[in-house]
Amino acid sequence: MFDSLSDRLGGVFDRLRGRGALTEADVRAAMREVRVALLEADVALPVARAFVDKITETAVGQNVLRSITPGQQVVKIVNDALVEMLGGGEGAATAELELGVTPPAVIMMVGLQGSGKTTTTAKIAKRLSGGQMGRDRKKVLMASLDVNRPNAQEQLATLGTQIEVATLPIIAGQQPVDIARRALQAAKLQGFDVLMLDTAGRLHVDAALMAEMQAVAEVADPAEILLVVDSLTGQDAVNVAQNFSDQVPLTGVVLTRMDGDARGGAALSMRAVTGKPIKFAGTGEKLDALEAFHAERVAGRILG
Ligand code: GDP
Repeated sequence: MFDSLSDRLGGVFDRLRGRGALTEADVRAAMREVRVALLEADVALPVARAFVDKITETAVGQNVLRSITPGQQVVKIVNDALVEMLGGGEGAATAELELGVTPPAVIMMVGLQGSGKTTTTAKIAKRLSGGQMGRDRKKVLMASLDVNRPNAQEQLATLGTQIEVATLPIIAGQQPVDIARRALQAAKLQGFDVLMLDTAGRLHVDAALMAEMQAVAEVADPAEILLVVDSLTGQDAVNVAQNFSDQVPLTGVVLTRMDGDARGGAALSMRAVTGKPIKFAGTGEKLDALEAFHAERVAGRILG
């Protein structure tokens, strides 16, 4: 992840640092290279453009060029801008899951089929029930609302057994909104702290999917609506995020397959496109392969 972007930026900055004095033209030339590197990493064009414009303005506008170490200062400006692009300090850690409502706190998971939604539902449930988010262990109930994909509900039940988290008993033929209603009632009656709703995905965003998400959200009144997107899908991930965020009130994003060789564009564009923080990164198939997303750390990794 980020390897090629990191190499490209490393080259640009080594050249900048290597020179004693910098002119405005030097900075502008370097920023053109940064822009190309970002686009090659699949960063959305408007995001890359805004990023580079902002850095250029800061670097040229402040007394950076007249300082003793202009190259170093430009790199610092890029670092700060990257951290901001990745979501700043906000939404990074587990505490940012908004669970402070009257229980059960509902976490609704949305996303396309194959994005890793069901796996991520179980990963978050495991962390919550294991007391890894905040200090206390949460009593978690998971329910699958996916009536489209054969065996989706069974898949969640199997994961529940593995991680020792309760799942809502399956009633064949029941529709998503009714399952959500039943899950909420069960969670209330049985004293669960958190209810996780694994909603249906589709291969593509469509009107029926969005209508279903909105109807479920209305019934379940979720404290969190987390969009799960596959970081390997690059620009597509960004388009999917844009679509969902236009129609469903997301509270955050989970990027899966960060263990793969994604070029990084999805991670870098997500905040700008959705306005919402990336809260977690999926880093493998195992159920403990989930990390809180820390913008500073990721920026540090990119800049080497
Ligand atoms: P859903 O259709 O969105 O519910 O997707 P699933 O949760 O069934 O995941 C699809 C596949 O992706 C499964 O084989 C998961 O094990 C795998 N997967 C999910 N998240 C990750 C991740 O972060 N890294 C890797 N390598 N695989 C993942």
